[in-house]
Amino acid sequence: MADARFSQGSRAIIFGIGDELLRGDYPDLNSSLLARTLLHQGWTVEEIRVLPDDLPSLADALRAAGERVDLVLTTGGLGPTDDDLTRHAAARAAGVELNFEAGAWQMVLDWYGRSDRTPPESNKRQALVPAGATPLNNTHGTAPGLRMALGKATLFCLPGPPREVGPMIDGALMPWLEAHAPGGQVLHTSRVFLASLSESQFADEAGSLLERHANALVGVTAQAGRLAVTITARAADAQGARELAEGLQAQFLERFDRHVYSTTQPSLEQVLGQELIERNMTVTVAESCTLGLVASALGAVSGISSVLSETFCTYSNQVKAHRLGVDPRVLEQHGAVSEPVAEAMALGAAREAGARLAVAITGLAGPDGGSPTKPVGLVCFACALDGRVLSIESKRFAPAGRNAIRTWTASRALHLLLLAVRATS
Ligand code: ATP
Ligand code: MG
Repeated sequence: MADARFSQGSRAIIFGIGDELLRGDYPDLNSSLLARTLLHQGWTVEEIRVLPDDLPSLADALRAAGERVDLVLTTGGLGPTDDDLTRHAAARAAGVELNFEAGAWQMVLDWYGRSDRTPPESNKRQALVPAGATPLNNTHGTAPGLRMALGKATLFCLPGPPREVGPMIDGALMPWLEAHAPGGQVLHTSRVFLASLSESQFADEAGSLLERHANALVGVTAQAGRLAVTITARAADAQGARELAEGLQAQFLERFDRHVYSTTQPSLEQVLGQELIERNMTVTVAESCTLGLVASALGAVSGISSVLSETFCTYSNQVKAHRLGVDPRVLEQHGAVSEPVAEAMALGAAREAGARLAVAITGLAGPDGGSPTKPVGLVCFACALDGRVLSIESKRFAPAGRNAIRTWTASRALHLLLLAVRATS
């Protein structure tokens, strides 16, 4: 939704390029990411289009866009194969030659050199650059991007793979956007990352924070049980914009308090991992239902092995009893998905791993196996610290499918660990 105050700014068009996109092989994630980025920088996205790997169509669409708007962004079609035509189309649309450029080739060589390889001949295509264009370094892949003049617009051509697009937005597009803010105003973006909150709970609780503020655009995206809130404000100078954005950010921090896990780091596991490592707090996890998801998230944190030596995947009752010392009578009496079992799992895991802190999960991810008293989506959590139970809770997640339930559960467990770590200092 474009905000009226922000829509007098400059205008942009985004193209997703590739036959596979037109065939519906995968959704156009790049264009939505670019659209959100532009919106928050005060731009109006007039059009998002998907184009085929076809030179005349690409060149026509680019030429027309360059006459209509101020900024044109493309993703895809920068690869080394014959169907990767974006560079050729950009040159044709701008009416300039396409030349092999040593600087761009060096970028390709550098990328291969990082893993002691040399690029195949076909990669030389990726060093073709329209006359006057600036090649953009790709830190996560082979294909350099491009920035060039196109009619009255500036054109950015970015690679296709989303894992390459994000870093190129940060490294090349954002600095340009910041230097070319529409309306001569300066923008400042502040962020808040939240866990254990659904988008609708967030909207309910945020209430007036989402409406009242005249000059700040608040955007929310949900992913894997976490919410990212982006607050963008504009003013005549940098300090004014910063004060506006940070003022609203402070209100979000106050209102959402325990749900806030960071204002800078989008990854919950990275935040948790760093705090564990900094406090040298040993940790472990006992997982039924998520079977390794929490352990795997922690495994993504560099240096985690200084505080994590062992985790437990305990599906069956027998293994819960044998590996974690859960009393078979407790399992019998309350059932595997129960708070007393979660509690015994957490205490047992901490004891067995010799860890100060443990979280345990036992739940029903479905789709089968639910009952009226133990429905699919029911998950019991327990946290133990220094041999004592710190928290026990049952949550009833929506029956949104096995994957969603497991993902939300893992995210909640990570957040419980973080709350426990923070409570100790
Ligand atoms: P490569 O060097 O990998 O060929 P490229 O710049 O030529 O890069 P494409 O060939 O167009 O990019 O796309 C490569 C892959 O990136 C696709 O197979 C797809 O998985 C992903 N991809 C491309 N465009 C998009 C998009 N708009 N949204 C999401 N994923 C995309
Ligand atoms: Mg390709």
